[in-house]
Amino acid sequence: MAKVFVVDVGRCSGCYNCQLACKDEHVDNDWRPYAAPQPETGHFWLKLDEHVCGTIPKVKIHYIARLCNHCENPACMAACPSDAITRREDGLVLIAPETCTGCGQCVDACPYGAVYFNDKLNIAQKCTGCAHLLDNGYKLPRCVEACPTDALQFGEEDDLAEALKDASPLHPETGLGPRVYYRRIPGQFIAGTVYDPVEKEVIIGGKCLLKYNEKIWETETDAYGDFWFRDLPVDTFDLTICADGFADKVFPGIRTDECRNLGDIPMERI
Ligand code: SF4
Ligand code: SF4
Ligand code: SF4
Repeated sequence: MAKVFVVDVGRCSGCYNCQLACKDEHVDNDWRPYAAPQPETGHFWLKLDEHVCGTIPKVKIHYIARLCNHCENPACMAACPSDAITRREDGLVLIAPETCTGCGQCVDACPYGAVYFNDKLNIAQKCTGCAHLLDNGYKLPRCVEACPTDALQFGEEDDLAEALKDASPLHPETGLGPRVYYRRIPGQFIAGTVYDPVEKEVIIGGKCLLKYNEKIWETETDAYGDFWFRDLPVDTFDLTICADGFADKVFPGIRTDECRNLGDIPMERI
């Protein structure tokens, strides 16, 4: 049974411990035959991507840890003319530093951008799953062990079945069978602040109705006049805002290619 990584994006605080731990484990450390030393700069075998959504003051940030997906059908392995890349029984995909000739074909072949080139050693390198640790009695790779919020998990697929229920890999359409699964990646949001321009006061308890395909979501403006519709798919929505004593305000065709802060919304008295 092959191992998997599970990344719970909802738990990640963006502390960067995982990225630093990976560097601490591999920069200048020689773990041959698993991996030659990682150079000090330019390589991110685990890279924390920061995603900033919305505009001030309605901004949400989430972080996505990206590493080699240890694919079931690795494109890097298929592209290597020297048989330097292998997939082990436990599912970890390794580039043998002594066999790699530095042709760079795996770098180009990986659609996830997970392979880096080491100019000094003239070899391709990437996340090893910390196989040098696992083969020496350690249960977890360094990045997983270093995560203070348990946002990263690693283990047998069966043991992580619960976490995997609502998880999916990034870009499964590559068809490579990626084995790093992500859960709770936030969707887009539509938000705004509703106010009465005459009284110069926010409107509390205003009804906000969001329509999309036959579905309707409903929420109310809070004590600050704010409303939020979170975790929306990328699509087109119609928003109607209603408040007693005010004309309804309609926003047709809001696209959620990105998070949408509609800003301060004045309501007209009737
Ligand atoms: S993510 Fe890229 S480098 Fe990693 S196994 Fe898949 S194809 Fe190879
Ligand atoms: S498993 Fe090891 S090599 Fe891979 S990202 Fe984590 S710390 Fe780095
Ligand atoms: S160590 Fe954990 S919480 Fe910190 S950035 Fe990495 S995944 Fe997120």
